[in-house]
Amino acid sequence: MSENKSKHQQVIEALAVADGPMSANELWEHLRSNPSLNSIGIATVYRSLKKGVEDGELVPVELESGSVRYESSGLQHHHHFLCSTCSRAYDVEGCVKNLEKLLPQGFEMTRHEILLYGLCADCKMAG
Ligand SMILES: [Zn+2]
Ligand SMILES: [Zn+2]
Repeated sequence: MSENKSKHQQVIEALAVADGPMSANELWEHLRSNPSLNSIGIATVYRSLKKGVEDGELVPVELESGSVRYESSGLQHHHHFLCSTCSRAYDVEGCVKNLEKLLPQGFEMTRHEILLYGLCADCKMAG
């Protein structure tokens, strides 16, 4: 039981320090590169993500339809960059001012999403 809890904690912590939201598979790959977690099963990762969302520590992020990634719930307002080559998502700090200017007359904006597309630094260098 305590072993499961520590694995869960490591899942939560891995996402807290990640440079962007990760899918269950990406997170699984990432965790397995850690020697103490190289035997972690994908089912454990799924369970942990589910519990993290239920506990309010994680939020699901759906940048592409049908593909859910997860990030810490405590992050500041931010947006994402999606690499077209490796499909990794990265956090982008900050926001755009005066988005309201885009609104049609008489409209009110309650929230917004901004998603940037392109090549991440690794893929650009490899390209
Ligand atoms: Zn990339
Ligand atoms: Zn924003």
